Amino acid sequence: MDLFDKFKPLAAAYADLTHGGRDPFGVAFDRILSPTVGMIGDREVILAGTNNYLGLTFEPEVIAAAQEGAARYGTGTTGSRIANGTYGPHRALEAEMAAHFGMAGAIVFTTGYQANLAAVAGLAGPGDQVFIDADCHASIYDACKLSGAEIIRFAHNDPKSLDRRLGRTDPNASNKLVIVEGLYSMFGDIAPIAEFVAVKNKHNAYLMVDEAHSFGTFGARGLGVSEADGVLDKVDFIVGTFSKSLAGIGGFAVSNHPQFNLLRLAARAYMFTASSSAASVEATRAALKLIQARPALKDKVWANARRLHKGLTDAGFALFAPASPVVAADMGDPAKAAVFWNALLSAGVYVNLAMPPGTPNSKSLLRCSVSAAHTPEQIDRVVASFIAVDRAIKANTLAAVG
Ligand code: PMP
Repeated sequence: MDLFDKFKPLAAAYADLTHGGRDPFGVAFDRILSPTVGMIGDREVILAGTNNYLGLTFEPEVIAAAQEGAARYGTGTTGSRIANGTYGPHRALEAEMAAHFGMAGAIVFTTGYQANLAAVAGLAGPGDQVFIDADCHASIYDACKLSGAEIIRFAHNDPKSLDRRLGRTDPNASNKLVIVEGLYSMFGDIAPIAEFVAVKNKHNAYLMVDEAHSFGTFGARGLGVSEADGVLDKVDFIVGTFSKSLAGIGGFAVSNHPQFNLLRLAARAYMFTASSSAASVEATRAALKLIQARPALKDKVWANARRLHKGLTDAGFALFAPASPVVAADMGDPAKAAVFWNALLSAGVYVNLAMPPGTPNSKSLLRCSVSAAHTPEQIDRVVASFIAVDRAIKANTLAAVG
């Protein structure tokens, strides 16, 4: 008996996946040259799978802010938000995020994952009920487990399914928290937030929306799908991350609830982990300022998303959703997806490979995330590489690509 025995099937699947190719889950970039170009060894690749939606990671203001944060406060905080890890920049970023959303309160966490652990498991506990969209991110599932609340899944993006499930519960027996995402990261499909608001109001439930992938890219001010749907003020809690459009590392939750700040005393993922570094917090503050100053970034990412979506659609690829900053192509089966992913990398294009059990409906897919920093030529090269690899696989001439 060995603790690792249970990983045998996993190890076998992993060996299959990496046999004769690279490890899709262990890619290391030796250098990052810009938001859209990296180096693996001496090979230059277009980064089309990095969630750098607004392309702000190399902006001089953002880099200078990170450098100044490290110089002023040191490289690490060495403690949690409630002990010794709250610095001026954490407080400043909280005030700026609250103002940006027009909400009364904002709390900053060390990662987006921890924002979900803290918000969900802080707000819901034994005796409460949490209703989650079946396709919610792993951090939301983990948070639900940690909460000790009863977990009830409803069909993905289906307000009627939520309505039925809420309708079966005793309206007075428990607090009810509904959790959905704005933009889903695997298929790139969007939640009907206004419809979810109507359902949660009907049943007197609370609604939390994770805008991790939609912050910065949806809504007039880039606040997410809740803003785009015109219901931002009716959503009880918004959570998100700094690791995508905001060019840093960290997470946030915002709310108008008058007692929102009590979460700081109840959420273990806030209390028992070190706060994010001043470098990261200051980088995020600088990125937030750029988002406010440059609304055209959003137009650029959307123009690129539409260009990529059209290019792949015209070439006959089966995409899961209309154009959005996440463009994902259905590859049919895991073996083909892995071969395709390897060949794209050989051709100088990095995208994300995703396969069961980590995907909705057990799909095997290649996921592109589009950046405002991509040039139209880079987008066209991504499309051309997809087409070349597809042709080579069909003609059995893959070795010639790259
Ligand atoms: N929520 C969603 C929907 C996500 O996709 C992710 C990460 N991809 C997170 C939360 C976690 O964010 P972070 O990477 O900042 O921990």
